[in-house]
Amino acid sequence: MNLLIMGLPGAGKGTQAEFIVKNYGVNHISTGDMFRAAIKNETEMGKLAKSFIDKGELVPDEVTNGIVKERLAQEDIKASGFLLDGYPRTFDQALALDAMLEELGITLDAVVNIEVDPSRLVERLSGRYICRNCGATYHKIFNPTKVEGICDVCGSHDLYQRADDVPETVKNRLDVNIKESAPILGHYEMLGLVKSIDGGQEIAKVTEDIKAVLG
Ligand SMILES: [Zn+2]
Repeated sequence: MNLLIMGLPGAGKGTQAEFIVKNYGVNHISTGDMFRAAIKNETEMGKLAKSFIDKGELVPDEVTNGIVKERLAQEDIKASGFLLDGYPRTFDQALALDAMLEELGITLDAVVNIEVDPSRLVERLSGRYICRNCGATYHKIFNPTKVEGICDVCGSHDLYQRADDVPETVKNRLDVNIKESAPILGHYEMLGLVKSIDGGQEIAKVTEDIKAVLG
């Protein structure tokens, strides 16, 4: 089975990707892992990527696409399929992926899209706060302090949120993500590949729904 997984930050993509890989025996390929392996193995694209990274420059799209193509051309992909995670990130990359899959004779079976209402994601993602005195971390919903406003570890009242975890920042980050992923999803919807899953449910129920659509 050849799959792609999509979902906004905080939607639970990582957990479900883990399940899919375990349950269907597909190769989990994420952009970070692909880059590290290509550079370590000194593949043609790996060396090229490293030359940009060493100069402190952004790796251009063609090189990123090249790294994905090198990975998809490996034997284990033909044998047991893949779950692509974190790629494509742009519409152009989606088109590049279409082209390389066709060249390699690989068919994409489905795009698993884990949907969660963005306002709930803001709640999930912006709940983190930290004790300035001892560094202990908490979450408003998932891991609150025993007494509101007081650190469990050191008793300090000085709890704060990192700038990245402030609701307004989280919301902006999500907006950028939604804008970027909309044309990619639209593209796969046109191809009839999108399987939308309600990611607002309990983790086990989300997993069950994925099982139901993938068979
Ligand atoms: Zn503390």
